Amino acid sequence: MVEQMKEGTFIIHKPIICLLIDSLMDTPLQEEIQAGRAPTLQFLRDNGTYFPRVVSSFPTMSVSIDTTMLTGEPPNKHGIYGLTYYHSQQKKVFNFGTGPKEILFFGLKRVLHAAIMQLNQKLISKDVETIHEATEKPTAAINSMIYRGNQPATLKTPWLAWLFGLLPRNVETSVPSHFSFGSLFNITKKSLPKTFLSKFGMNDHFSSMEIISLIEEDKLPPLSLVYFPGNDTVVHKKGTSEGKGIKKVDEEISPILNAFGSWEEAIQKCNFIVLGDSGQTNMMKKDTYVDLRKILRPYSIMPLSRDTPKPQDQLIICVNERMSYITILDDNISYQDIVRLCKAEKKIDVIAWQTEDRWIHVVSGQTDGALSFRPDGDYTDEYNQKWQLEGDISILDLTLDDHQIQYGLYPDALSRLAGAMDPASRNIIITISPGYELVGKASPKHKGASHGSLHHLDSLVPMIVTGMDNQPEHLRLIDLKKWFLNLLQE
Ligand SMILES: [Zn+2]
Repeated sequence: MVEQMKEGTFIIHKPIICLLIDSLMDTPLQEEIQAGRAPTLQFLRDNGTYFPRVVSSFPTMSVSIDTTMLTGEPPNKHGIYGLTYYHSQQKKVFNFGTGPKEILFFGLKRVLHAAIMQLNQKLISKDVETIHEATEKPTAAINSMIYRGNQPATLKTPWLAWLFGLLPRNVETSVPSHFSFGSLFNITKKSLPKTFLSKFGMNDHFSSMEIISLIEEDKLPPLSLVYFPGNDTVVHKKGTSEGKGIKKVDEEISPILNAFGSWEEAIQKCNFIVLGDSGQTNMMKKDTYVDLRKILRPYSIMPLSRDTPKPQDQLIICVNERMSYITILDDNISYQDIVRLCKAEKKIDVIAWQTEDRWIHVVSGQTDGALSFRPDGDYTDEYNQKWQLEGDISILDLTLDDHQIQYGLYPDALSRLAGAMDPASRNIIITISPGYELVGKASPKHKGASHGSLHHLDSLVPMIVTGMDNQPEHLRLIDLKKWFLNLLQE
């Protein structure tokens, strides 16, 4: 695991274990550590470097973020625009499981097909490489929705899903050398809870068991990505100040370090990276949910029960919690027709669309004025990206110092917005200000907190790096693939 003989010399390879904690945020993490309820994460932080503000990708939804992290590309290159979106080539809406009610309307079979049979196999663009595909070194993906690798594998679906005709018994896919996907495919081959309640093994405890078995059997590859989904549910229910999810995940991470003999040995033998994927924003108690069907009432919206448009459908709404895509199908409807209606809702903070001349336009329900931008101009931002800008920069809370762009409320706003624009669709992207959530016919209504938007509260995640003095070129999830590949080269 640690040492490898190469031409008579010993080269020390310290494996990297990356622990990805869904909806991990800086403030609650600090608070749990302060209160002594996250001793393992505290140990990793105190013996490493802490970065409280790493920028996630947009929309701030896990599947899309994970695909960006693994491929180093934005949605319009890798193809996964969110938890639900309209696929312009296939002319079809995909939903990977937004919420129980919406799944019911949309059809459980469609959701399962998309998530289990198409996401990795067909929907992630073949023009991009995941980190697992881009390195010849062995890698592990444990309980990650996004895992595409170079090795053929057969997922064994839960027999109940098969019995009810929801999924075939076997699903072909391509995976990394070390792969675990709940009860559908696993490393330990131990008897797993195969029930709906345990989410078929897609839970924190199973993730922990799987990486521990690799450590104990001395089979740890140079890079392991281990997902812990549990915290997200707690924060959605109880809000961002609820630390129970962090306490619980800490209890699952602690045995991983124990598996090395001691925590000190763990960080000597391994590099650890702890990472969140998105932040969340607390929900207001009143008037929390903004129903897009009401705003877009004059138009005929494609019903949820269909995934393919018919001629009478004028618009498609794909709501991703605090952001939404509005796809215009009817050629007689202009962007301005829809923008005007959205602008009347004061809670909508960003309304953006791209015209055929490649310019992206942004307005807001909260102020007048408009900003237009496109890549390759005289203005340079914090990430060395160049832009042309016209109009009112306060719309995206940008500030200019000579020709240098500084971001405010919306980190890396220009490239993140540009990266969510599908050049083949007439899409309008909207996000809603903190405290509120967008809803359609059967969207989940979160009581505690929610995410999806461009706002910094949804977009900044903490990162702990322990065992090495090293960091990505920029503190953004989109820059991690390049960093990981460099680390694997060393
Ligand atoms: Zn979530």
